[in-house]
Amino acid sequence: MIQSRILLTAVVIIIVIWLQTKTTSSTASQELALTRRKTALLIIDVQNDFSQPPPNGSLSVPGGLEIIPKINHLRNNFPFDFVVFSQDWHRPGHPSFYSAHPDAKKSGIKLFEKIQIHGRDQVLWPDHCQWDSYGAQFHPDLDYRSGDFVVQKGNRDADSYSAFMDNDHEYPTPLHAELQWREITHIVIVGLALDFCVGNTALDAKELGYQVTVVLDLTRPVYREEGDAMVKQMQGKHVRVMQSVDQIM
Ligand SMILES: [Zn+2]
Repeated sequence: MIQSRILLTAVVIIIVIWLQTKTTSSTASQELALTRRKTALLIIDVQNDFSQPPPNGSLSVPGGLEIIPKINHLRNNFPFDFVVFSQDWHRPGHPSFYSAHPDAKKSGIKLFEKIQIHGRDQVLWPDHCQWDSYGAQFHPDLDYRSGDFVVQKGNRDADSYSAFMDNDHEYPTPLHAELQWREITHIVIVGLALDFCVGNTALDAKELGYQVTVVLDLTRPVYREEGDAMVKQMQGKHVRVMQSVDQIM
């Protein structure tokens, strides 16, 4: 009788331990699934027109050259699951070019000022990043490799600051679909320029549900004040804004 009670107790203890182990391992695997992250690096518009000093760059962003070795270093020292390069890519005579609006010029509107196109503000830029031009090519020092994913933007009439969609938010680029297919959850954004294409890409990425980080030391603004305003806007939307690459490596 005593022996059978001992045997019964032993069996009960074994079952309890087995159940506890099963529950713990199930919880651990669920946590692992929830915390599994895949990170993409988005390198925005590091093209000759934006990064080369004048006259080689027609829309040169101050300090654009300085960030190139830092971007290469980040790419080579962080285990990104996916690397994307965006490329501003305009047809000749694109509506974002000042030269395409002779009437605006006649009425006294200057380069870099805004006009309304389809009810939306449009900055009038110098001609830049035209199809197949030197200015549209990536800077030769940028660590771009054949086979890297390139997303071209601005090839419709509406301008496109974001790498995800045009400024009218009507036509998405293939970027979101590609990131979804690769199960990307986190995005680190660097490149040119902070107050336009980097900032708007970050805001759209956040809106689309990604965890987004922008590294300030790896981007530069066209205008300092607008860069500061974009940082505040991104922080207001919970984009992680980091000063230096040391904070993510
Ligand atoms: Zn452009």
